[in-house]
Amino acid sequence: AEAFIAQVEKGRALNAFVIETPEHALAAADAADAARAAGALKPLSGVPLGIKDLFATKGYQTTAGSHMLEGFKPVYESTVSGNLFAAGAGMLGKLNMDEFAMGSSNETSFFGNVLSPWRRNDGGNAALTPGGSSGGSASAVAARLAPGVTGTDTGGSIRQPAAFTGISGIKPTYGRCSRFGMVAFASSLDQAGPMAHDVRDCAIMLEAMAGFDPKDSTSLDLPVPNWEANLSSDIRGKRIGIPREYRIDGVPAEIDQVWEQGIAWMRDAGAEIVEVSLPHTRYALPTYYIIAPAEASSNLARYDGVRYGQRVAPENGNLTDMYEATRAAGFGAEVKRRIMIGTYVLSAGFYDAYFNQAQKVRALIARDFEQAFDKVDLLLTPTAPSAAFGLGEKTADPIAMYLNDVFAGPASLAGLPAMAVPAGLDSQGLPLGLQLIGRALDEQGVLNAALAFE
Ligand code: GLN
Repeated sequence: AEAFIAQVEKGRALNAFVIETPEHALAAADAADAARAAGALKPLSGVPLGIKDLFATKGYQTTAGSHMLEGFKPVYESTVSGNLFAAGAGMLGKLNMDEFAMGSSNETSFFGNVLSPWRRNDGGNAALTPGGSSGGSASAVAARLAPGVTGTDTGGSIRQPAAFTGISGIKPTYGRCSRFGMVAFASSLDQAGPMAHDVRDCAIMLEAMAGFDPKDSTSLDLPVPNWEANLSSDIRGKRIGIPREYRIDGVPAEIDQVWEQGIAWMRDAGAEIVEVSLPHTRYALPTYYIIAPAEASSNLARYDGVRYGQRVAPENGNLTDMYEATRAAGFGAEVKRRIMIGTYVLSAGFYDAYFNQAQKVRALIARDFEQAFDKVDLLLTPTAPSAAFGLGEKTADPIAMYLNDVFAGPASLAGLPAMAVPAGLDSQGLPLGLQLIGRALDEQGVLNAALAFE
């Protein structure tokens, strides 16, 4: 714990943490010493973790990257962070993130952008984003500030930053981890998951994080499998599907090459490679960018200046003036954009044309996956359509930013487990990731195939 606390201090220039909580990590380390003496070590005894600032942590500021929640100290603990602490882990601090998890570069955070510890090898030394929205999480692991962290993934926010920083991360099946105490973005998509250096660490963390929680009505009432104990890189005979629609124009050749390399590795490991079709793939991104903002506009209605965080009350103003001033000051530009898109697609005149239609397309996308999984056990795709991009490169063009989610979004819409694994470097020496998508509840299959990459 002391070593990681020192690393966190040394790594402050990355801006990965919003707050540091060394006392929490040290208390867990002390508890681990006591547990060891008593012969009662737990799976994560003394392990100092970073917690994304989207998980409510009792008594510790929880902001979701927003000015709106600056200074908010929850009086309760999120189930996921509570589960990790109950398994013996401590907290090094709260990790920076895109505001309300809306973004793919960690540049929408009120607390400033996060830097990736990676640099292109062209000598230019341009600052790169760590991806997002779990950018602080990814950067902290990649820079060795924490051995493992929590992330959340609504449409790629665990997998894309993991790919950008050369680490592993898994979004489990929707409902595996409780959303209780997670600041809501798009409730039908939000899922917590671990990010760490390797597959085994992800399995250990996920086992501690997951489990039924009566406080979340979408939590799955199923036992947590022994993912770590059942890890095996033996994938002989597994059928791995390669979705033809993921070969899209405009993706750099290096992404295709790393994908081909991954396919070859899987074949060498004894898997059978099968081409499959997911015909509605090209509608996934637009569908996501209707459903996620729609749910966000509803979820974020709660920030009214009355119950949480910031309040701005103009002198002689009425209640509406207070709402308006609070929301104008508390939300950043991307969050406002999402609220406007979401409100529009839910409005009486456009509900059928957009939101309702998107819900139908979402069902078709889920059905595509079901049909593919009649033929194959897993799908292998790139994680993101590019390596990490430069700071500021896409901030002026929201659509270009949204396009970065093209490979991550479909599995989110279908609620399926999906994992990013590091798969190589591009010509600039930057990490590229591959994604494994599994059947609902088959985290084990996903983890095992990911292990075959190590
Ligand atoms: N980049 C996507 C978005 O901005 C996904 C974010 C996420 O998964 N939280 O909505």
